[in-house]
Amino acid sequence: MKILIAGGGIGGLCAALCLAKANVQVEVFEQAPALIETGAGIQLSPNATRVLHHLGLEAALQDQAFLPKATRFRSWRSGKLISETALGAAAVEQYGAPYYHIHRGDLLALLARRALQEPGITLHTGAPVETLDQAGPERVALTVAGNCVEGDALIGADGIHSKVRTALWGAEQARFTGNVAWRALVPAAALPADAIAPTGTVWWGPGKHFVHYFVRRGTLVNCVCVVEKDGWDVESWTTPGDHQELRADFAGWHRDVQMLIEHADPASLYKWALYDRPPMARWGRERVTLLGDACHPTLPFMAQGAAMAMEDAAVLAHCLSTGNPVPAALQRYEQLRRERTAQIQLGSRRNAKVFHLRGMQAWTRDQAASTMGSRTMDRIYRYNALQPE
Ligand code: FAD
Repeated sequence: MKILIAGGGIGGLCAALCLAKANVQVEVFEQAPALIETGAGIQLSPNATRVLHHLGLEAALQDQAFLPKATRFRSWRSGKLISETALGAAAVEQYGAPYYHIHRGDLLALLARRALQEPGITLHTGAPVETLDQAGPERVALTVAGNCVEGDALIGADGIHSKVRTALWGAEQARFTGNVAWRALVPAAALPADAIAPTGTVWWGPGKHFVHYFVRRGTLVNCVCVVEKDGWDVESWTTPGDHQELRADFAGWHRDVQMLIEHADPASLYKWALYDRPPMARWGRERVTLLGDACHPTLPFMAQGAAMAMEDAAVLAHCLSTGNPVPAALQRYEQLRRERTAQIQLGSRRNAKVFHLRGMQAWTRDQAASTMGSRTMDRIYRYNALQPE
């Protein structure tokens, strides 16, 4: 059996590695000339690191990532601690896998290195998938950079603007959420010693929130800053952001937030317009299916988009290694994944409102968060994609 994967991002590479581990041959086609990630940081919760450990990446993650002590929610101006959840050793004890913060470039590099060592995986870069064709009941065919390639199945892991999804289901409707996300990196050496706690910190404010955490073994602080505003609708990290605009967006916020913005590397500033898409009724057809952002693009308010792509990868490999005919295996994969990923999409959409509440509603939210913590996240972290049924 040979599986074709469109897209060599986090989801596509994880799928290739999970399939190769299940002794399935894989060919990956990535449009970019090299396997590099331009984004900044990413949070990897235990449901994701469980899959990465299964792929033999435990030591590499320990070496490259940052192990936060906790997640904290704080109030935008006073800095008051609203709630705290222990991570670090406590997460390992509770979930059997760690919670990490990592630079996206480091994560993609370690996935790509592992894939290159794997004889069952062939990686093509500079290889845009152009068209696809269910070449009879037994095969699927692709045109990649003008050449025809055949396989037993195609996985569209080609991201939020997926060509494979469009070929299957036509153009989709996306709605601008009215939120713009900034990203920025701050060299930790530029900050006063111990100024920033070794935690993932989320500052909740009216109409905005600010997240920061260490990456690259603690040498960089990654910031994701989300602001309700119009006038920007580009859904991609391609256009540099303006430092002055970011300063103005968070004027009046706590001094820690101001300090991070002040020391941000201007070359690392980018902004991304956040679009919302409803869960899809169907993902795949016959010998073609989708994975990751291609089928469940998820707003970043639960830090679960990439984690869902990693879970998809493990479940897909499980289904394709049971000996069932390929179309039935892909159908089972979709059955096992659609509801969970839809819940995360909808939960993230809800959080877009909850994080930015104002006045009495914000006060009520803070009370609830301080007394109850997050049972939802606990349930999400416990999920084991390696044993999906
Ligand atoms: P992508 O990463 O988009 O990869 C798709 C790949 O396909 C790319 O390499 C692309 O070049 C390639 N491609 C596209 N078209 C073609 C084609 N025609 N032919 C060949 N190749 C093609 N998730 C988390 O789990 N934790 C977080 O903390 C987190 N934070 C986030 C913060 C922000 C601000 C945002 C916007 C997202 C965040 N996410 C987070 C979500 C996460 O980034 C995505 O869910 C994840 O990157 C999806 O991976 P993917 O492989 O499905 O898609």
